[in-house]
Amino acid sequence: MNNTSGKKYDYLVVGSGLYGAVFAHEAKAHGKSVLIVDKRPNIAGNVYTENTEGINVHVYGAHIFHTNDKRVWEYITRFAEFNRFTNSPVANYKGELYSLPFNMYTFNKMWGVVTPEEAEAKINEQRGEITGVPKNLEEQAISLVGRDIFEKLIKGYTEKQWGRDCSELPAFIIKRLPFRLTFDNNYFNALYQGIPVGGYTKMVENLIDGIEVRLNTDYLENKAELDALADKVIYTGPIDAYFGYKLGYLEYRSVRFETELLDKPNFQGNAAVNYTDRETPWTRIIEHKWFEFGKDAQGNDLPKTVISREYSSEWKPGDEPYYPVNDEKNGKLYEQYRQLAEKESGVIFGGRLGQYKYYDMDQVIAAALDCCDRELV
Ligand code: FAD
Ligand code: UDP
Repeated sequence: MNNTSGKKYDYLVVGSGLYGAVFAHEAKAHGKSVLIVDKRPNIAGNVYTENTEGINVHVYGAHIFHTNDKRVWEYITRFAEFNRFTNSPVANYKGELYSLPFNMYTFNKMWGVVTPEEAEAKINEQRGEITGVPKNLEEQAISLVGRDIFEKLIKGYTEKQWGRDCSELPAFIIKRLPFRLTFDNNYFNALYQGIPVGGYTKMVENLIDGIEVRLNTDYLENKAELDALADKVIYTGPIDAYFGYKLGYLEYRSVRFETELLDKPNFQGNAAVNYTDRETPWTRIIEHKWFEFGKDAQGNDLPKTVISREYSSEWKPGDEPYYPVNDEKNGKLYEQYRQLAEKESGVIFGGRLGQYKYYDMDQVIAAALDCCDRELV
């Protein structure tokens, strides 16, 4: 059956990540016909989880859902039940363990201070070296928590993650981390937080229930043929790839995951341990079972464990692009691509790669819902 313009589908959604899945769900709910294509062998984009020995493994990196946006929380909980997981990573600096984000436990371990006043006095003493508005991540970090914490918990980790000196990175990246003069290890300042019970893949399956999906299908390699099938395209791949990189490459950070199944019940006692020194080659180790409290779907303790070491690298063609590098240079190039995208009729660019934005999951869902409000009438 064809739509009114004679094409088979109203929408072709490129990418089955959260942006594509939310758009596809809403389009179908508005009576539109939708085809989703994804070049990967699996749905769900970066939030894809895979069950190994009863453990939901976060295949493309650890994902903890957190939001202050009630609309997004009420929306997403229609498709999954969320557990009460609270992210509290531990930092390992050369064998010294610190609590994250920066809070009274961290300050006590770092300086032996006991009260918030003592901690504040110590930080004030150290932040004095920065005068004026912080110009980059290094200055921002020192003015927030002082030099000791910058040197032990921020500098090495950040330089490994971004492959750039902290003085060359934008200040906003570090503002993502809370800083508290209380004994609160919750990594996020969010009203709502958790992990979907049964894994993110199940949640995305629920979102795209009843919608045709073609996996292992690269849109850009089959563009003419796929364009002929639908009136409009929702494109959630990299914006520069869409235009054949004709204005140059946008920079991304890529991540390589080294995942192991271990025949022991407990490797590190926490979902995330960050290695904040410069020498350890990985940025962090994720022990996936702790996102669901070490239990399988029936509530049994799991005898084995799966861990992933994360190695960060500069993206090159052929790698998976994970993190847009939102600095000034890339911002300018993105703006040029955005102007080209605006002129591209019949295509909407969305998501972390389509909009080249360091979006969290909740922001991607909000952006997709906003797009639906404009597009689906
Ligand atoms: P994606 O999930 O990247 O989906 C895009 C899809 O498009 C992919 O499946 C891709 O295969 C497909 N695609 C691309 N090009 C083509 C093409 N040419 N043809 C066909 N298909 C194509 N957010 C949080 O809120 N909490 C976290 O803890 C968190 N942790 C993260 C950890 C890591 C390592 C990373 C990288 C991100 C993390 N995020 C986290 C962010 C989160 O992953 C994103 O906000 C969200 O998944 C982006 O959804 P998306 O649909 O925009 O993109
Ligand atoms: N960061 C750090 N030390 C840590 C964890 C994070 O210096 O132990 C810095 C790092 O620069 C990182 C930023 O804080 O890019 C934001 O961290 P977040 O965990 O939000 O990054 P994500 O991996 O979720 O993008």
